[in-house]
Amino acid sequence: MAKASDYLIALDDGHGLGTAGKRTPYIPSVGRKIQENEFNERVTLFLKMELERCGFRTLLTAPTDADTPLKARTDAANSMGADALVSNHYNAFDGKFDGPGKDAEGHSLHVYFNDAKDRRLAENIAKYLKQGTKQVYRGIIEQNLHMTREFNGPAVLVENGFMDNEREALLMINEDFQRETAREQALGVCDFFGIPYVAAGNGGNGGTPPNPDGTSGGNVVGKRVESIYRGAEGLDFYSRPTFDDAYRAGTLKFGYGFPTIVRKLKVEGADMYEVKNSRGHVFYVTAAPQFVKVEGSGQSSGGSASPPPASGGPIAIGEITIIGVANAAIVQDRPDRLTSKDLGTIRKGRTLPVTGSVRGKNSSSGYWEVIYNGRRAYITGKFGRYKAY
Ligand SMILES: [Zn+2]
Repeated sequence: MAKASDYLIALDDGHGLGTAGKRTPYIPSVGRKIQENEFNERVTLFLKMELERCGFRTLLTAPTDADTPLKARTDAANSMGADALVSNHYNAFDGKFDGPGKDAEGHSLHVYFNDAKDRRLAENIAKYLKQGTKQVYRGIIEQNLHMTREFNGPAVLVENGFMDNEREALLMINEDFQRETAREQALGVCDFFGIPYVAAGNGGNGGTPPNPDGTSGGNVVGKRVESIYRGAEGLDFYSRPTFDDAYRAGTLKFGYGFPTIVRKLKVEGADMYEVKNSRGHVFYVTAAPQFVKVEGSGQSSGGSASPPPASGGPIAIGEITIIGVANAAIVQDRPDRLTSKDLGTIRKGRTLPVTGSVRGKNSSSGYWEVIYNGRRAYITGKFGRYKAY
C-alpha cells in the first residue's frame, strides 16, 4: 500500500511579493493595500506544514519572494517528479470595492481542459473547501493556464476569493482563514491519494510529530525560551514561520528571550518555536537546542531533525544544487550583484547548504543565502534548485 512519503507535492504560491498589480484596493480599516502574495505565501506555508504532518514530501516551486517565472515553477515540479501540484491565488474582477453585496465573490478551482486527473484532484479539494468559512462556490473551471497545462501530473489552481471584494480581501490576512484553507486543501490531497489525514495535535500544537528523543513539542508550551547563542550578531527571530531574512523581526542577545512558547512547529524542514513577547505579539525563533534553551529543561528543548549546524554558525534548512549556468555560479558576500565581492565559484551540479532566501538587490530571482567555507554567502536565485533537509 502506498505511503504518504511516496508522494511529492509541489506547492506554488502565485506571484512574487512585489508583483505589480496583484494587490487589493486600499482598505481603510487596515490602512493599506494587501498584496496577493501575502495570502498565497502564507497559505502555501501552512499547506506545507499540513501535508508534511501527514507524511507527504513537499516542494516549493517558488521559495523566494521574487516573482519566479511560471516556466521555472513547472520545470522545478516536473524535474523533481512531483506527483501533484497545488497553486494558490486570489482572484480579481474590476479592481475596486463597490460595497457589500455588489462585488464579485467566491472561490473557484481551475483545471486544464479534459484532464480527468486535474478534475479528480479538484473535486477532492472542493469537497472540503466548500466547508468552513461561508463563501460562494464558483465551481471547477476548465481554463488554459500555464501551471495546470505544463505540469505533468494532476494540478489545480485555487482562486480563494476576490481581492476587490472588501470582505474577502480582509480574509487574506486572517490567519484562521489561511490555516483553514490549508487544512481543507490538505484533506483533499489526502483523499486524492488515499492517505489518512493527520490532524494537528491538541493544545494548539501545530502538529509536529513527537521528537525522536521522546519529548513532544507540547511540553514546552507556556515556558520561557532564551538564546544561548554567544555570537555578537545575536540570534534572528521572525514575524512569520520562516527563516527568510525578509521576515526577520529582530535579534536576541545571549540570555534574552521570550516569556511564552505557544507551540513548536516544523518550518522548511527545521524546528521553530512560535512565541509571544510580553505584549502578546507573536514571533518565530529557531528551536534548535544549539541556539536556545527552554526554561526548566535540563539543556535541550528537544531534538532537531535537521543536520546539526556548525557550532555558532548559521542554520542550514536545506541545500541547493547549482543549475542554469554553463560552468559555475558566483558566490557573493552580499545579496546585491552590483556591490558584492566574489568569494569564489561553485560548479554546476554541486550542492551547498542553504539557510534561507532573500530578495536582495538587482536579481529578479532573489538570492539563496548559503553557507560557503563556513560563512554566510549568497548565490543568485535562478542558479540553485532547492531541496529541504
Ligand atoms: Zn494570482
